[in-house]
Amino acid sequence: CFITFEGGEGAGKSTQIARLAAWLRTDGGSEASRAQPSWEVVTTREPGGSPRAERIRAAVLSGVAKPYGPFAEALMFAAARLDHLATLIRPSLARGAVVLCDRFSDSTRAYQGAAGGVDAETLAALERVVVGTTRPDLTLILDLPPEAGLARARQRDRAAARGPDRFEAEALAFHQRLRAAFLAIAEAEPARCAVIDARGTPESVAQAIRQAVAARLPH
Ligand code: C5P
Repeated sequence: CFITFEGGEGAGKSTQIARLAAWLRTDGGSEASRAQPSWEVVTTREPGGSPRAERIRAAVLSGVAKPYGPFAEALMFAAARLDHLATLIRPSLARGAVVLCDRFSDSTRAYQGAAGGVDAETLAALERVVVGTTRPDLTLILDLPPEAGLARARQRDRAAARGPDRFEAEALAFHQRLRAAFLAIAEAEPARCAVIDARGTPESVAQAIRQAVAARLPH
């Protein structure tokens, strides 16, 4: 079962992935699915997720790819995704594990597509070539107003003493475009996507996620 988490900055994806993984590994797994008392759970992330893909992530996020533009950025992330799929995601799914991935193709559609201006048909073609049939069974879109998400992300970065505000350069409009893009994906693909209101407490968000996941696990 391949589950991806998507959403803007500060939506709480990492926290919720850790919580869902813990739940699936223990009693929650059997609560959700009689097919398996507890699941092997693999948690991973994009961009990155495998040693080679993490090197591409570090390079692109350091800014060296910026002058090449968003389409080249999409190609670099596609190269990273190819390796991530081949070395981690597909072998894990083949063993019967549940794979929880922090960001996947929908982030490419939102960041490089809706916000970066790369046309949707080009990104769809790239997705067909790179992802093939390894599409997520479920995509959880953690949704909250960008103002709230950015405040959380800034607080997190300050606590980690990460230095200057890395979100300062991006206008609020950029984050609003991202949010609209994720919501449009959910509307276009309701069978795959579930929109989760991420404004609640971590426990209430976790509860909503568990419900969405239990509905998809084999029974
Ligand atoms: O979710 P996380 O904070 O790990 O994402 C790291 C950064 O990577 C995001 O802030 C976003 O700016 C960037 N990103 C991107 N294009 C993608 C995926 C992520 O620009 N396709």
